[in-house]
Amino acid sequence: MTLQQPLARDPQSWLRRAGPEDPVYFFNPITLRETAKRFLTGFPGEVTYAVKANPHDEVLETLAEAGLEAFDVASPIEMALVNRARRSARLHYHNPVRSKSEVAQGRQFGITSWSIDRHSELDKLGDITGAEIAVRLKLPVEGASYDFGRKFGADPETAVELLKTVVTRGGVPSITFHPGTQCHDAGAWEAYIQASADVAKRAGVTLHRLNVGGGFPSHRCDRLPDLQKIFATIAAAKAEAFGGDGPALVCEPGRGMVAEAFQLALQVKAVCDDTIFLNDGIYGGLSEWKDIGASSRVTAVATSGSHSDRMRDFTVFGPTCDSIDTLPETISLPADLKEGDYLLFDGMGAYSTALATRFNGFGDYRIVTLTR
Ligand SMILES: *Cc1c(COP(=O)(O)O)cnc(C)c1O
Repeated sequence: MTLQQPLARDPQSWLRRAGPEDPVYFFNPITLRETAKRFLTGFPGEVTYAVKANPHDEVLETLAEAGLEAFDVASPIEMALVNRARRSARLHYHNPVRSKSEVAQGRQFGITSWSIDRHSELDKLGDITGAEIAVRLKLPVEGASYDFGRKFGADPETAVELLKTVVTRGGVPSITFHPGTQCHDAGAWEAYIQASADVAKRAGVTLHRLNVGGGFPSHRCDRLPDLQKIFATIAAAKAEAFGGDGPALVCEPGRGMVAEAFQLALQVKAVCDDTIFLNDGIYGGLSEWKDIGASSRVTAVATSGSHSDRMRDFTVFGPTCDSIDTLPETISLPADLKEGDYLLFDGMGAYSTALATRFNGFGDYRIVTLTR
């Protein structure tokens, strides 16, 4: 729950002044606009945003202002959120499994692209005349933090059959895939683009668009993402696989778009030898750490004076009474870290508030908007 949205110029002095006891997210709209611009100018096709990474109104509004005209949504609630931020936005309903009532609600929202990965879900859509239907392809490729092909996606043989059926029924055929989240390996996109061209050729279908998914990495630990290199690889792979006039490209970044626009400040509730207890953990904004590991981008903020340069490895627990509420790795922090101090985590905009629970009565947070 968002409690209030004050403004701040810099997180550290705001924390010292306000002394918040609940988690605080510092949102930097300038960073988000800059990242959006990087995608809009660098990606060789249309840029959409995967709402699930961070569905806050301010995020959707900032992206709409920055020039995004289409959004990737997975549920009617996400459709309503996008509608509120930008009425004219186009919606891509790229959750390939939907109930009948969700399909009906999608139609009411005017979905402009549907993804499918099996015949039964194509049948559920009923009349698809003139509608863009993107067949979700999956390949056994590596390079991402976890495998998105485990749940969704048709293997190439099934994708060939699905594409043919889409055309027979009067739909507009496209292919979509997702190489897996936090994917540093541009080769994953290359393999998918080549396979998409093969599938389209075997089906005898000219693709309307090729959606290369999300998966663009954010800055976690010491590894800087090289978006420009990934964009260049995607453009070159498309030209090679499809020749001169291939399908128009689309991407749908979540993490890569929003991660850097938020920092998360957590308070140290207790220090006991090499163990610290924070006011949030894996049931809150750090939920993803249990799946994709810790990030080293953490700064300690002393509430009075400053910390020593001597560092120590701490075991970190969250606030709940559950013993698995601990970070997967120890964190190196100033040896004189004290109760009441803060830890400021960078790059925390994606899959943080979106995954936070209210377990054990914790989970309230507020968002402070940075003004520079
Ligand atoms: C989650 C998701 C995305 C965004 O993935 P990121 O790794 O956050 O970029 C894009 N498209 C689809 C279909 C998704 O499910």
